[in-house]
Amino acid sequence: MKSLDEYLREAEQIHGHICAGQVLGVRMAMLGLEKLGIDDPLGKDRKRLVTFVEIDRCATDAISAVTGCRLGKRALKFRDWGKMAATFIDLQSGKAIRIVAKESSKQLAREMHPELPTKNQQQMAAYREMKVDDLFATQWVKVVVPPEEFPGYRAERIVCAECGEGISFHREIIRDGRVLCQGCAGSRYYEPL
Ligand SMILES: [Zn+2]
Ligand SMILES: [Zn+2]
Repeated sequence: MKSLDEYLREAEQIHGHICAGQVLGVRMAMLGLEKLGIDDPLGKDRKRLVTFVEIDRCATDAISAVTGCRLGKRALKFRDWGKMAATFIDLQSGKAIRIVAKESSKQLAREMHPELPTKNQQQMAAYREMKVDDLFATQWVKVVVPPEEFPGYRAERIVCAECGEGISFHREIIRDGRVLCQGCAGSRYYEPL
């Protein structure tokens, strides 16, 4: 594994700026890898890891930079829960660890760096130095990863009986014997004009 500073430099390049979220995300991902015993996520271990993230913020990019898990590679799974948390899964061993940033870490950051003018600066400095147990809570978990969730899964496509659009990865819904996409089954996030 690289050092915190090296990862932060890489994350900054990918994300476009350095911020408290980057520091949090890099440290969260480093801790996940360490707990799983994965030390070369971009090299020899690159097919071992799947990561579920529970927020789409700055930290998400940092987690992606460190782990190499990306949405387009199907190794990054997004659950829109609005929580500063992620679960790192080692597909080889089946071990998985969920890590969440502690709410109390924000208050602690204020106390550690009252001399800094902005919350972002306080957190950026404090999150670098903070003891891992003050920053995160961890728990070992079990995550069922079905074959169609695996990064290398060869998807057969099926066509929605309503809109005719193709669907991969068994995301279809069968209703009254008809094959429907998620949108036609009722969870559309857009309305046709
Ligand atoms: Zn940011
Ligand atoms: Zn459809």
